[in-house]
Amino acid sequence: MKGIMLGLYNDFQCIAEKCTSTCCTGWKIVVDNEAFSHFENIKDAALKNDILSNIREIDGGKKFVNKSDGKCSMLDSDGLCRIQKNAGEEMLCNTCRKFPRLISKHNGLLWVSMAASCPVVADYIVNSRLKWYMIGNTGNISPIDVRDIPFITDEIKEYKGLLKKYISSSSTERDYINTYKLSVNLADSVLDIVVESKEVRYLEGSFDYFETEKSALQIIAQFSCFDNIVKEKYSSVLVTYLEYRIFTRYITMPQEDKLCRTSQVFGEMALIYFIALSRYYTLETEHKKTDWEIIINWVYRLCVHSLKPSGNLHKLFLDIFNQTNLQTLHK
Ligand code: SF4
Repeated sequence: MKGIMLGLYNDFQCIAEKCTSTCCTGWKIVVDNEAFSHFENIKDAALKNDILSNIREIDGGKKFVNKSDGKCSMLDSDGLCRIQKNAGEEMLCNTCRKFPRLISKHNGLLWVSMAASCPVVADYIVNSRLKWYMIGNTGNISPIDVRDIPFITDEIKEYKGLLKKYISSSSTERDYINTYKLSVNLADSVLDIVVESKEVRYLEGSFDYFETEKSALQIIAQFSCFDNIVKEKYSSVLVTYLEYRIFTRYITMPQEDKLCRTSQVFGEMALIYFIALSRYYTLETEHKKTDWEIIINWVYRLCVHSLKPSGNLHKLFLDIFNQTNLQTLHK
């Protein structure tokens, strides 16, 4: 066996100017040395000037500056990249050429996944059945079951089992109040991180629900109603996200211990759940209320791409994981 691959990888198609999010928003794009020397040798003087004037030394590396709306300075209002438009895809720096593909070599295998900060990937997680493929020695691929993924199969199986048990169990009024308290604390801390960050834009309605006082009766009624909606329609999305994220986190940080990985994945899932609840009760538009792919896209971007916020969030998730009974998930 040569490797393991997320199903979408082979069928992926960038939706380019139709993309609502674009990969060039909300993070600083690193310019690798090879791309920088290609930029320096561009014959078209205006294009060369345009590109080089938008690169800065930031934190010891070269990066494209972002505009005030968080988008890369090379992105035009038509949603297309000026470098790609004028000099072709081969001129792009490594980060842009590879995105949203995530590839690493580890334990003698090639591990291939994709970043949910691309809306096509987020849509795949929400609306398709997650598939996995084995890459053979000659590059041939064949479908495999999640149980055949080495090293993390037991972890995925254990946590999927626990999540399914949570989903099928019924909650008491006390559980809903406790979950509400947890969600208010999480919302407060995450909002502080979002406000401090220049890279992240607020996702409409994401924490509005937690900003107004509510009676215990209201909390119990609304949390139990939303819980039922999730159990009926979206529990499979949470299970899929868990499977996708454990795999993807593992391939990007294979040395991370299981406790850290678990707290991160469950923290992201809690965030997705509470944002979905907040948008459900505070947004007017019916469609936006249940747009889980938008939420997953935003949460992944916040928790993975944005350097400082992602580090602060990881600490926060670890603290919460250690304080709540979620730690019983980790044996
Ligand atoms: S985020 Fe995904 S769909 Fe959008 S432009 Fe980038 S690769 Fe294409």
